[in-house]
Amino acid sequence: MNYDGVVSKVKQRFGIEIIDVEQRPDYYKEVGMEERDFIDRSYIIGKDTVVLGVYDNDERRIASLFHELGHTLVVGGCGGQLDYEEVAWKKAVELAIEYNIVFSSDTMLWIDNQVNTYRRGNKSDTRS
Ligand SMILES: [Zn+2]
Repeated sequence: MNYDGVVSKVKQRFGIEIIDVEQRPDYYKEVGMEERDFIDRSYIIGKDTVVLGVYDNDERRIASLFHELGHTLVVGGCGGQLDYEEVAWKKAVELAIEYNIVFSSDTMLWIDNQVNTYRRGNKSDTRS
């Protein structure tokens, strides 16, 4: 998978900004968060800025980017709600298909785990 290629296509298509924490290692300080808040996690600010966290795996990174984009495509709901998160992950998989990306079973399991995090209702987990 050509990660950079996908990112630039997505940026153009959705008109979004991407803050790449891997390239801005002090970002967490700028926003008063912890470094670990960005490990394997991404966020969306408003409807047009995606903060991409730090991943050791490009597939998870792309899946997360598509998940955050999914949030921009789903009307209503708020971050952390199970239904809303589940729909945004479904959108992520649909977007991947549109870009001819087939996630490995490992990545699909990881996505399931992300959804299950909300299902468990872990209040201390603020992932969005
Ligand atoms: Zn989310």
